[in-house]
Amino acid sequence: MVTVSIDRFSGFCWGVVRTVQIAEDQLAATRTSRNVYVLGHIIHNPKEIQRLEDKGLETISVDDFPRLANSGAKVIIRAHGEPPSTYRAAWEHGIEIVDATCPVVTKLQERVRKFWDQGYQVVIFGKKDHAEVLGVRGVVRDQCIVVKSVDEALATVDVSKKTVLFSQTTMDRPTFLLIRDALKGRVSELIVDTMEEIATEFHAKDTICGQVSGREAQLSKFAAENDVLLFVAGKASSNGKVLFDVAKASNPRTFFMETTDDLDPAWIQGAERIGISGATSTPQWYMEEVKSFVERLAAADLAIA
Ligand code: SF4
Repeated sequence: MVTVSIDRFSGFCWGVVRTVQIAEDQLAATRTSRNVYVLGHIIHNPKEIQRLEDKGLETISVDDFPRLANSGAKVIIRAHGEPPSTYRAAWEHGIEIVDATCPVVTKLQERVRKFWDQGYQVVIFGKKDHAEVLGVRGVVRDQCIVVKSVDEALATVDVSKKTVLFSQTTMDRPTFLLIRDALKGRVSELIVDTMEEIATEFHAKDTICGQVSGREAQLSKFAAENDVLLFVAGKASSNGKVLFDVAKASNPRTFFMETTDDLDPAWIQGAERIGISGATSTPQWYMEEVKSFVERLAAADLAIA
């Protein structure tokens, strides 16, 4: 007997629920004319993107603003946020912005701006070209250092300047803490070397979203309870990568899949308990589809056996 279950702590985070709801509301309000756009893919999930595009949502970039100028277009800013230059460009082209930036990201931008205004060197633990980081970089006119690892931080951050460390909201906390400790260590060394109380100041602000970090312990437990764990997420999802690694560490028979096309039947062979989990951008409805697909696959396998 094979049982297939969905991790009840997986699925959309409230920030994504909010963004998708804003898009649905805009599409419903302009049913007759196709004038609702989103800057970049609304979330990192191809199935959900397709569902909303089927309703009329069009994905664009800032380069499309000239062709949409003064046309009544409404452009949604997704949960990742945007740099100030995007708002300015929209205003210049007579485009209405519908701001669906996640409040957690807005708060991060505000905190970064506050420290930058006070003359701090801003360091961000994140991916340089991730949309959220591009937004934050724009807030400080790109006057910040983005690092992905301890080595990068030690090689690029001059701790003799007053410094503040932040994190992209979807990065992993253990690495953030390692970077924090490495930079703190450098500050201590500097004080010992110079034998004086230089004006070194270092702050670390853990801005990793609780919607990601809060899932880790539960996911780890869920992965361990199953023989096989199928982790469903978009390949471009940052938190999908973090959560997949958490599950894999707990259960080596954890497999990443974006759609059912990726599923290799060999993965589930001989498994009696199959778990399905996903990122904060993985829709519940799609995990239900994966569940039905796996149940059919397992039943066919048993019939052959
Ligand atoms: S993971 Fe956190 S920061 Fe990102 S959209 Fe969800 S609630 Fe917002």
